[in-house]
Amino acid sequence: MAYRDPNQVSECKYCGRKIRFEETIKGQSMPVEAKPVYYDPTPQGDAWVLSARGRMVRCVIHDAGDCVGSVPHWAKCTRKQQEAEEQRRQKKEQQDEFRRQREERRAKLEEKKLKKAGVTEGQCSFF
Ligand SMILES: [Zn+2]
Repeated sequence: MAYRDPNQVSECKYCGRKIRFEETIKGQSMPVEAKPVYYDPTPQGDAWVLSARGRMVRCVIHDAGDCVGSVPHWAKCTRKQQEAEEQRRQKKEQQDEFRRQREERRAKLEEKKLKKAGVTEGQCSFF
């Protein structure tokens, strides 16, 4: 893979938004929004940014502030959102299918039990 200039802006191949690639503290290349943001780190924050040192920080994003970071692109990428939506849908379908199968099994088991009970009763009546 070619070396990527952290300041070089490119386009997301999925949604076409302007993105950059920044290196995380673990040395991974992470797609981020091209425009840096100001943020205040706080555990109660509703956003995540990649700090200048490459750490993911929970924070509140402001128009101005002391810290400058980058918003990970996966939070904005419509393709990713579509994928997440799709995954949720598939998972739900799977759960519905599991539930259906479980109910089917339960119904069969119930039927078996009834039959068994019926046979036992029948046998009893012979004695
Ligand atoms: Zn994208």
